[in-house]
Amino acid sequence: MSFDVNIIRQDFPILAQTINDKPLIYLDNGATTQKPNAVIDAICHYYRHDNSNVHRGAHTLSDRATGYFEQARQTVKAFINAASTDEIIWTKGTTEGVNLVAFSWGLENLKAGDRVLVSQMEHHANIVPWQMVCQRTGAELVPIPVTEDGELDMDAFKALLDSRVKFVSMVQVSNALGTVNPVKEVIELAHQVGAKVLIDGAQAVAHWPIDVAELDCDFYAFSGHKLYGPTGIGVLYGKQALLDEMTPFMGGGEMIETVTFAKTTYNKLPYKFEPGTPNIAGAIGLGAAIDYVTALDRKAVAAHEHDVLQYALERAAGYEGFRLIGNAKNRAGVMSFVLDGAHPQDVGTLLDQQGVAVRTGNHCAMPIMDHFNVTGTVRASFALYNSREDVDGLFNALDKVKYFLF
Ligand code: PMP
Repeated sequence: MSFDVNIIRQDFPILAQTINDKPLIYLDNGATTQKPNAVIDAICHYYRHDNSNVHRGAHTLSDRATGYFEQARQTVKAFINAASTDEIIWTKGTTEGVNLVAFSWGLENLKAGDRVLVSQMEHHANIVPWQMVCQRTGAELVPIPVTEDGELDMDAFKALLDSRVKFVSMVQVSNALGTVNPVKEVIELAHQVGAKVLIDGAQAVAHWPIDVAELDCDFYAFSGHKLYGPTGIGVLYGKQALLDEMTPFMGGGEMIETVTFAKTTYNKLPYKFEPGTPNIAGAIGLGAAIDYVTALDRKAVAAHEHDVLQYALERAAGYEGFRLIGNAKNRAGVMSFVLDGAHPQDVGTLLDQQGVAVRTGNHCAMPIMDHFNVTGTVRASFALYNSREDVDGLFNALDKVKYFLF
């Protein structure tokens, strides 16, 4: 198998349009990816033919919806190489996954004197829940420093590791910088002091195969919408032994076994953590997205994505006034920058006028913006359907931005 970006692009109908009379160049994949026909069709098919609530009805549609919903869970299990579907919990997205672990695991296991480590390059979704839980338990949230290049400072991390550290929560690929963190080593080192580890895989899952067994992480969270799936659905993986011990942090229907006013007992895994009617169409759509991605030659996809990002970085290196924010050696999917003398938002607006979609601002990662002494950046983020031509389109548009602004 090989990879032809022009053929791939035909799977994504949204890309074939003009924005402000210019062909769309979509470079905001870090925020959300576009959806292939296979995903759009799976969702439409579900609503046209199978829509029903799951795990409850004594009727055919409900059985069918339940079947597809649980099949999607199997697909996720295989995709990340979990040991069992009991370890796959549907969430709204990465944010809910981190909150679930912070509140369910953290409230019961953290106390004054304990420490939770997160890196300085985390998304707010992997800072604020821990801050909230640390405030309630008296534990301390400690940032792991990042180097001038935007890499994790491994020496500083090692120096922080001692018996006070009970949890390490870290991003695999930074959405603000594109840095790829050495999470396997981080997990090994954290386990040596008895800490549990959550990996925020929001920006990683779309780029290469994830193997939670090989990583040996305790928890892994990601969002469907950054993996060519729909919004409003995500996955939390957790090791079964840990999930078994944890008390759910949200209550309601589906997650119970018996309820009386005296006492409630909880359902078995994974339903214990899935109160209320789940996002059934979302799970089915995510299953279709995973089927789409896994049917591709993933090595060829990764090589293509690497080529496009390298090409973008090469063009950036010789581009006047371009300041790359974060210069990690190992990076994926993201080129974050400022243009000297220009506000990122102005750059973004002028790029949009030329059909180029990027994100501007702090990327929900204010601490790392502070580290680089900027309030925000322009972020071009790439997916499998982007090409060298898109990169050229971006730089041609930047030429015009400079012409308008200076
Ligand atoms: N972590 C990272 C690294 C992210 O990029 C994002 C989304 N920008 C999140 C967490 C939060 O994901 P979601 O909004 O889908 O919950």
